Amino acid sequence: MALCKKELIKILNDFDFNCLRCSNCCRIDPGAVFLSEDDFNEIIKFLKIDTKSFLIDYCRPIFRGTRQIVALKEKTNYDCIFWDNKCTIYEARPLQCKAYPFWASIVESDIDLKKEMKRCKGIGRKGNMKIDEKINFYYQHKNFVYKEYKI
Ligand code: SF4
Ligand code: SF4
Repeated sequence: MALCKKELIKILNDFDFNCLRCSNCCRIDPGAVFLSEDDFNEIIKFLKIDTKSFLIDYCRPIFRGTRQIVALKEKTNYDCIFWDNKCTIYEARPLQCKAYPFWASIVESDIDLKKEMKRCKGIGRKGNMKIDEKINFYYQHKNFVYKEYKI
């Protein structure tokens, strides 16, 4: 569903969110945290490691049609590779993590929103997030450009 700005503002005005810091979105279930070029560069700078080591030790390729794009590895229990009682790269965490739950797929679909609410108890909880911040996250994530996986 493509939303016009007016519809988006209405939906996001009613979209309460206040993170409980439970980390359910970082662990337990399988998922994929995709990286943009900027995310990738921020994390290698934060970890002070080179591109190849980061790709091999912390990333995995995921096929999208004929392309291979970069996602973070998961541990065998499906926790994010960077989760260790907290996000260990919090200051450099990817946009996908920062923008959650204001992803177009969630904001634009009641079905996906209901599904997501079962996992994230912060959705629907009153908070003090400004509408502009929600709109920014929505557009930043909607316009996300996936980084290609190349060694
Ligand atoms: S699952 Fe929701 S409430 Fe819990 S840490 Fe993630 S965003 Fe916050
Ligand atoms: S990078 Fe950090 S915030 Fe994102 S899923 Fe992994 S542990 Fe969670």
